[in-house]
Amino acid sequence: GCAEQATVLASIHSRRIRPTLPVSRLYQPLNLRDVGLQGEMTCKSQRLMQQAGLIHPSSPGCYYYLPAMVRSMEKLVRVIDQEMQAIGGQKLDMPSLCSANLWKTSERWDLMGNELFRLKDRHGVDYCLGPTHEEAVTTLVAHQATLSYRQLPLLLYQITRKFRDEPRPKFGLLRGREFYMKDMYSFDVSEEAAHQTYESVCQAYTRLFSRLGLCCIQVQADTGNIGGKLSHEFQLPADIGEDQLLVCGNCSFSANVETMSSDRTDCPQCKTGTLVATKGIEVGHTFYLGKRYSHVFNATFSSSQNKPSIAEMGCYGLGVTRILAAAIEMMSTEEGICWPGLLAPYQVCVLPPKIGSKVDKAAVLVEDLVHNLGETLPNLRGEVVLDDRTQMTIGKRLKDASKLGYPYVIVVGQHALEETPRFEVICQQMGETMFLSKDGLLDLL
Ligand code: ATP
Ligand code: MG
Ligand code: MG
Ligand code: MG
Repeated sequence: GCAEQATVLASIHSRRIRPTLPVSRLYQPLNLRDVGLQGEMTCKSQRLMQQAGLIHPSSPGCYYYLPAMVRSMEKLVRVIDQEMQAIGGQKLDMPSLCSANLWKTSERWDLMGNELFRLKDRHGVDYCLGPTHEEAVTTLVAHQATLSYRQLPLLLYQITRKFRDEPRPKFGLLRGREFYMKDMYSFDVSEEAAHQTYESVCQAYTRLFSRLGLCCIQVQADTGNIGGKLSHEFQLPADIGEDQLLVCGNCSFSANVETMSSDRTDCPQCKTGTLVATKGIEVGHTFYLGKRYSHVFNATFSSSQNKPSIAEMGCYGLGVTRILAAAIEMMSTEEGICWPGLLAPYQVCVLPPKIGSKVDKAAVLVEDLVHNLGETLPNLRGEVVLDDRTQMTIGKRLKDASKLGYPYVIVVGQHALEETPRFEVICQQMGETMFLSKDGLLDLL
C-alpha cells in the first residue's frame, strides 16, 4: 500500500552514498586480446575503447557495452534529456519490433532496401527492427482523436537502440548495425510554427555540443529517403569522417557536398568566399518534414476554428553512441582516452602507495580522503574510485589510469607523509601535475 510506495520512493530519492567498487572489483577488462572483427576497419577510438574495457565486439557492428561505458552513456543521456526537456520535449519509448504495414503505408518498406532488418513472426507476418520511428510516432499521434491546437507544439523523443544493416559497419561505435540514437519528432499547427520548433531544436543541439566541449558545425544537408524540405547535419570535423563538407572561408555558409555539385568552389551565399573541403562525422541530423508522414497516417489536430487539420512535422536525430566514439576519436591521444569532462565514467581515481614500499604508511590517509571527497563534494558522489591494486607499482597503475582517462588522478605517496600531507594531483586533460593539501584538493575539485 502507501507505506510500501513511500519506501520505494524514499529509496529512489535517497542520497545515501553507496560505496563505489574499487578497481580490483570493477568489470573492466583491460588489455583484452585484440579481437579485430573480420572485414571491419578499426580506428583510434575503437582501439582505445576496447583496450580500456569499455566495449567488446560481438559480431560486425554489434558491441557489448561494458559497465564503464554504460556509466558514460547514462551521463550523456542525462545531458540530452536536460536539453530536450528544456525545449518542451517529452520522453517516451516505442517498440523496436515494427509492423511492416506501417512501413508499407509510408512506402519505405521498399525504399529502405537492404538496410532494413526484416523478420517474420510465427504467423508469417512481416516486421522490421526499427531503424528510425517516423511511421511509429505519427500513427501513435494519429490515434489520439482529441489532439487540440492548444497542445501543440508536441515534441516526443526517445533514446533507444536502432537497427540498420549497414553495408560496411566500421570504426567501432561510429558505424554500428545496432546503436543508440535519440530521435525526436515534432508536431505543429503550421509551417511557420514548425520552422520555429526546428530552430529551437537546432539551438538545443548547439548548446548540447558546446556543453560537451565539442566543436560541432551545422551544415546544410540532403534530406535522403526520410523526405522533407529543410535539413541540417551536425558534423564534428575529423579526418576519419565519412562526410565531405564544404565550408566558406568568408561567411557562415557550410554544406554537405551531397547537396551541391561538388566540384564547386565559389560560395553560393556570399558569392565572394572560397569553399574549403573538410571531412566530418555526422553526429546529429534535423529535418523539417512538412506533411509527408502526417498526411499518409492522417495525424490531425483540431484547429482554432475547430476543424481537423493535418499537423506539420519535423524529426531530429542524435547518434548517442556515435557521439561518444567521435568525442574519444577527436580528443584522445594514441595512448589514452580523453573524455569530455561531463562524460568520463568516473571523475577521480585515487592511487594508494604500493604495499611494502617506503611510503606505504601513507595508505592510512586514503580512506579518509576518499570519504571526504564524497561527503564534501556532492557532485563527486559515486565518482571517486580507489585503485586498490596495491601489489602493483604506482607507475603501472598510472599507465592504466591514463589509458582510461579519469579527469583527475590523485597519488597518495611521499608528499602525503609531510607534516601537512600533500597529494599529487594529475589533471589528465590539461596534462598538469600539482601538489595540494586536502583543502587545496577540495577547492580544485
Ligand atoms: P550516415 O550518413 O552516417 O549513415 P544517416 O544519415 O544514415 O547517417 P540518420 O538517419 O540521419 O543517419 O540518423 C540520425 C543520427 O544517427 C545520425 O546523425 C548519426 O549520428 C546516427 N547514426 C546513423 N547511423 C548510425 C550508425 N550506423 N551507427 C551509429 N550511429 C548512427
Ligand atoms: Mg546511414
Ligand atoms: Mg548521412
Ligand atoms: Mg543523416
